[in-house]
Amino acid sequence: MCGIIGYVGKKNSVPFIIDGLKKLEYRGYDSAGISILQEEKLVTVRAVGKVAELEKAALLANPKGQCGIGHTRWATHGKPCEENSHPHTDCTGEIVVVHNGIIENFLTLREKLSSLGHRFKSETDTEVIAHLIEENLKTAPGATPKERLINAVRKTNGEISGAYAYGVLWARVPGFLLGVKNQSPMVVG
Ligand code: GLU
Repeated sequence: MCGIIGYVGKKNSVPFIIDGLKKLEYRGYDSAGISILQEEKLVTVRAVGKVAELEKAALLANPKGQCGIGHTRWATHGKPCEENSHPHTDCTGEIVVVHNGIIENFLTLREKLSSLGHRFKSETDTEVIAHLIEENLKTAPGATPKERLINAVRKTNGEISGAYAYGVLWARVPGFLLGVKNQSPMVVG
């Protein structure tokens, strides 16, 4: 279990996301993180421990942006540490993913992606989602980056198995936050 929250709007997303993570903290509290799209670049802040630790780190880093995602983790794959805390990125650092649940076939996918040249930075099952989206974007059809992202995520969903919900940001599609759910609950408001 974990808590995920995303924000797209007109205000700075950081206070909304930190506040939302505090409300979701009962779902997971071994580490937490946020990624904020700031001037077309993703700024990620992560911290081990409760959301209060993340809040302190976020105050220091002071990211600002109208689109962002956050996660408070309850580890299933990989010990609680900064490297394993979410959000996780692809090789380019332009895609970030926060995830709830378990990707059952992550080992097979990790081996396949590693053989294609992807470099993993964590022990989590989650990280395969970011690299798989990166891989699928290479051939995803679509007239715009947004359409290509949607198609790459659709293909990714056909390749991963398990019960999950996840959120994705791609720095090339500012102001667009993609949410995916398979059995896990998700609320949009
Ligand atoms: N399986 C993921 C992990 O271990 C997500 C766990 C969670 O739902 O918090 O990082």
